[in-house]
Amino acid sequence: MIGIINMVTPHLEINLEKIRHNASELNNLFNTKGISITAVTKGVLGSLEIVQALLESGIKSIGNPYIASIRKMKEAGLDIQSMLIRPPMMSEAEEVVKYADISLNSEISVITLLSKCALRHKSSHKIILMIELGDLREGILPCDVENIVEEVIDLEGIDLIGIGTNMACLGGVKPTDKNMKELSCIAEQIQQKYAIELKIISGGNSANYEWFMATNDTGLINNLRIGEAILLGRETLHRKKIPNLYTDAFALVAEIIELKTKNSVPCGELCQDSFGNKTEFQDKGPMKRAILAIGKQDIDISKIRPRIDVDIIGASSDHLILDVKKTSLSVGSEVKFDINYSTLLRVMTSPYVKKNYS
Ligand SMILES: *Cc1c(COP(=O)(O)O)cnc(C)c1O
Repeated sequence: MIGIINMVTPHLEINLEKIRHNASELNNLFNTKGISITAVTKGVLGSLEIVQALLESGIKSIGNPYIASIRKMKEAGLDIQSMLIRPPMMSEAEEVVKYADISLNSEISVITLLSKCALRHKSSHKIILMIELGDLREGILPCDVENIVEEVIDLEGIDLIGIGTNMACLGGVKPTDKNMKELSCIAEQIQQKYAIELKIISGGNSANYEWFMATNDTGLINNLRIGEAILLGRETLHRKKIPNLYTDAFALVAEIIELKTKNSVPCGELCQDSFGNKTEFQDKGPMKRAILAIGKQDIDISKIRPRIDVDIIGASSDHLILDVKKTSLSVGSEVKFDINYSTLLRVMTSPYVKKNYS
């Protein structure tokens, strides 16, 4: 058994040194303009090996939307500041207070419940209020911020430590000097009106890279929550490579289970495929087709790129079909792919894909 463990396919090769390098480069870069990084690990199922690499890069704050992932880090005894980056469910309030050092919030009813839980545990829970600035996902409308702050600062067991916003997720709205200034402005107003200090002004995620590089005034913004840029080395507005970062810290490897020359167009009456779609096939004559033992269960096939010269024809839930062209592959050969964020999410979540750290 032990002898073949490294040969298990499909598997994901994870290069911790490249992740550590990316995290450290970005940490240094953002620090040049007074911005700290919270490293977001939702893309990698909160992997403790990766959290460890992030800590070694000098990052102390780790964010994840899942309380189960945050709990896992705390129970492993890692010396981190944990941030729950999705507004808590009411049903998880107890655990949030117990395991998350900070949570991002947008509902007063939930914050009130967190306060009750914190008091019961004789502790205090730190929160960041999320502000809606156009992307239309989570966040308090700017016109409601003052009312909520007023209620929150009176709540025992709740420590309001900052405000934040999130762009470019649902609406794809670009972080700009205009919306970032608006966040700074709201922070300024709260600090003055209530005579409190907001320690964290968290301006967004990997999509803030372009704004950060271009701006000469980051205002009060002093934190960004960065996931994809660390893991895959790209900003997320155009998926452009960030200079000096690795884009290949992850590689997916799958194995050929059938290799035959077949026609390029199916033969028979064409109806729906396994996912309810109707596909058009181009007649390229007979071609050498390989089936790999992986499929839509584990990957987003439109977003993976083979590292050798083959074309992806299609996939069902557990078969991936390639036109292997002139390559010299055979049954049992491994094919390696670069992956994007949606495939990273799926392969990390899949019990069928082994994770090999190096
Ligand atoms: C996912 C997420 C992030 C990180 O986004 P990346 O694009 O991976 O940098 C930051 N903040 C919140 C609230 C998120 O949901």
